[in-house]
Amino acid sequence: MAHRVVVVGGGQAGAALVARLRNDGFAGAVTLIGDEPAPPYQRPPLSKKYLLGEMAVERLYLKPASFYDDHDIELVTATPVTAIDRAAREVVTGARRIAYDSLALTTGARPRLLPAAIGGALAGVYPVRTLGDVDTMAPEVAAGRRVLIVGGGYIGLEAAAVCALKGLEVTLIELAPRILQRVASAATSDFLRDLHLGHGVEIRESTGLERLTGGGRVAGAVLSTGERLELDFAIVGIGITPDTRLAEAAGLALENGIAVDRHCRTSDPAIYAAGDCASFPYKGNRIRLESVQNAIDQAEHAARAIMGSQDDYLPYPWFWSDQYDARLQIAGLNTGYDATVIRPGHRPGGQSIWYFRGDTLLAVDAISDPKAYMRGKRWIEAGFSPDSTAVADPDIDLKTLS
Ligand code: NAP
Repeated sequence: MAHRVVVVGGGQAGAALVARLRNDGFAGAVTLIGDEPAPPYQRPPLSKKYLLGEMAVERLYLKPASFYDDHDIELVTATPVTAIDRAAREVVTGARRIAYDSLALTTGARPRLLPAAIGGALAGVYPVRTLGDVDTMAPEVAAGRRVLIVGGGYIGLEAAAVCALKGLEVTLIELAPRILQRVASAATSDFLRDLHLGHGVEIRESTGLERLTGGGRVAGAVLSTGERLELDFAIVGIGITPDTRLAEAAGLALENGIAVDRHCRTSDPAIYAAGDCASFPYKGNRIRLESVQNAIDQAEHAARAIMGSQDDYLPYPWFWSDQYDARLQIAGLNTGYDATVIRPGHRPGGQSIWYFRGDTLLAVDAISDPKAYMRGKRWIEAGFSPDSTAVADPDIDLKTLS
């Protein structure tokens, strides 16, 4: 019998995996199962153009509806998988048992929510993770309304930018001493803080949420500083947790996500995992990368592994974020940096921040400076480290440094 592949998780990774299988000539049966009603769609615009109302829902879809039929991929939507029967090699949904020879878990991540005890379950409190989340929240995003954004990560900052552009009164709180503390240098945080302040956003750092108040629906907030705010609604962007529920119930090894090897294989060789839900070996550590690029690349790697490839997965991380007219592009991973240098950009408002450990270039954050981003990305992927003093000198053309 032909090989049967079942993919659980209909997000960016799941869609990339099934498309790669067919593009590379896989001839067996392919089933992609997602629990959301929509076919696989892009999440990045949800907190940007889609929330702003500048992108039609059809443009979010990763593939046209005909793609799945045309490529003989069974797409099952709105269907939670309830269990994996590893002994029988079947996945279980409410109505069906679906047999597999290879199973891939691309179950992604779930947003962390505020505890109900501090008002997290009140009406008018929204996460920003799914199309459903944003569609439900959209009517709230109207000029003159007051929103509290909890969390100064990418979700919080991108949502703050959209709300400020739409004329809302925006207050953003971040528990850490600075926004983006977990992922970026102080220089990047400083730049983005100034950008938001310039658009009228109130930013409170080193500030937690004591509680949201209101009878049934959120009407206010008490902050850890004692400050009280009156609100119309709240947006929560306080991070995500990998969705390991099925893997855990099936007894697969977990370590900050579903633990996979260099071939995207879990502790059960018939089961693969990729994307936000999976942790993998990288430079002597085990990491999990929360990024679209990793979801696609790792899922494609898993597809090739299912087809017999023995190549190791090597990520080349990059990220981007659009806020107002600024575009932040990040190449590399800055973990473990001990120095940064700042290079002014050629355009007003542009600059790049370069992360080094000793003499080794680890990452670059380029703000409205695509040339610096492209150069840095190329260098990082090639393992080349330029002289940091020269990088900081805007009169030296980066091209001359390699
Ligand atoms: P995130 O990047 O983990 O940021 C969450 C932030 O909220 C952290 O700075 C966190 O501080 C803070 N926080 C946690 N609890 C808080 C509280 N009770 N009060 C105030 N602040 C609190 O997660 P996210 O912004 O929610 O984004 C979710 C995922 O989507 C991430 O993987 C993110 O990378 C991804 N995403 C990416 C992009 C992009 O690349 N452009 C855009 C949107 C989303 P601590 O670190 O101190 O906990």
